[in-house]
Amino acid sequence: MDDSRDMVWVLNNINEFYGHESCGQCTPCREGSLWMQKITARMLDGGSAYDDADLLRSVADNIAGRTICAFGEACAWPTQSFVAKFRAEFLAYASKTRKSSLAKASDFASDSAKVSDIAKASSDKLEDEPKGSGTGH
Ligand code: SF4
Repeated sequence: MDDSRDMVWVLNNINEFYGHESCGQCTPCREGSLWMQKITARMLDGGSAYDDADLLRSVADNIAGRTICAFGEACAWPTQSFVAKFRAEFLAYASKTRKSSLAKASDFASDSAKVSDIAKASSDKLEDEPKGSGTGH
């Protein structure tokens, strides 16, 4: 793996494996491995929140040392180390989400401007119609 790899994508790939392979006997491993996978998948889908890095770290910290076999540590350690060593990449995802939200808001503003142009044109047209036309109601 070279340094061009997206570390959130890589962690999601690892989390998919652990989420699938957990036997489910211990609650922290059964639930936590899937939570971590859902968080990294959501980040990749453009739904990252600013505190996702801390949330991932918190979930991982609550798995390691709380299970009956070493799979708990095995699934927690990648998340703990990725978030610690590549934190900026995780935070950048939240920034991307914010930018795309702002872009959507500006699209909406542009649509609003079009709607107000149409409303003004309709209003101008009504004012231009000759008086006395229509049904007289
Ligand atoms: S820690 Fe081991 S025993 Fe516990 S749920 Fe995970 S895989 Fe199963």
